[in-house]
Amino acid sequence: MTTKTEINYLIVGGGIAGSLLAYNLYKAGKQVRLIQTSMKGEASSVSAGLINPITGKRFVKTWNWEVIQQHFLECYRSLEKDWDCTLLKPISIYQYLDSVEEENQCASRMLDGEYKDYLEFEYMPTSKGSEFPLLKIKTAFLLDINLVLGKVLNFFKNLNLVTNEKMEYTDLDPSSMIWKDFQILDGVVFTEGSFAMDNPFFNHLPLWL
Ligand SMILES: Cc1cc2nc3c(=O)[nH]c(=O)nc-3n(C[C@H](O)[C@H](O)[C@H](O)COP(=O)(O)OP(=O)(O)OC[C@H]3O[C@@H](n4cnc5c(N)ncnc54)[C@H](O)[C@@H]3O)c2cc1C
Repeated sequence: MTTKTEINYLIVGGGIAGSLLAYNLYKAGKQVRLIQTSMKGEASSVSAGLINPITGKRFVKTWNWEVIQQHFLECYRSLEKDWDCTLLKPISIYQYLDSVEEENQCASRMLDGEYKDYLEFEYMPTSKGSEFPLLKIKTAFLLDINLVLGKVLNFFKNLNLVTNEKMEYTDLDPSSMIWKDFQILDGVVFTEGSFAMDNPFFNHLPLWL
């Protein structure tokens, strides 16, 4: 019988979710293995990296934004310290408005105290020649997401903690929690993004709806 290497967590997928989870678990003292391969359709590596508090047709502030912001600022500032680089920049997002309805919707949001620090109109000649003002979302952020992904992947590669291949689900035996040469002590975390639709362990979930 071959001896298995004990790990606390197997993380499947190294997009932004898996990368940050793996890195934070490692820093918390856990034994981690990351299995990651690049696949057509992965989201993080093609993402614009915008973190925008006001979204959608009705310009709604993200639920629990202040708490979320506190967490991501803490997370990325700590990574910036670890890696001595800039990952996250505060920016403003300018959005075209296309109708009186949109302009009125924004104007009414600006009267709401919860929105006043986030939104304002800006009047400038736009390339679209629009008769409407631009909506300025004042408190957004731009994340250098590919830098985060690259740093995390290199970090784990240097420690020889990455398996660079597509996970075959049949390699995982959930009853013994053995995957290849590894004995998993605490759990497998699937962070495969949209590829989770192919994951047989969750085929009871209506992921196509
Ligand atoms: C074009 C585009 C632009 C976007 N812009 C923004 C934006 O500006 N702001 C924003 O907040 N959101 C944006 N998003 C959404 C955001 O990118 C995603 O919500 C986020 O990246 C999802 O991250 P993830 O880690 O869950 O999944 P993914 O980034 O898809 O990562 C999953 C990873 O797991 C790997 N994988 C999957 N299955 C396996 C397997 N069996 N074995 C090994 N590896 C596997 C995949 O190859 C992939 O690398 C954008 C999305 C797209 C498509």
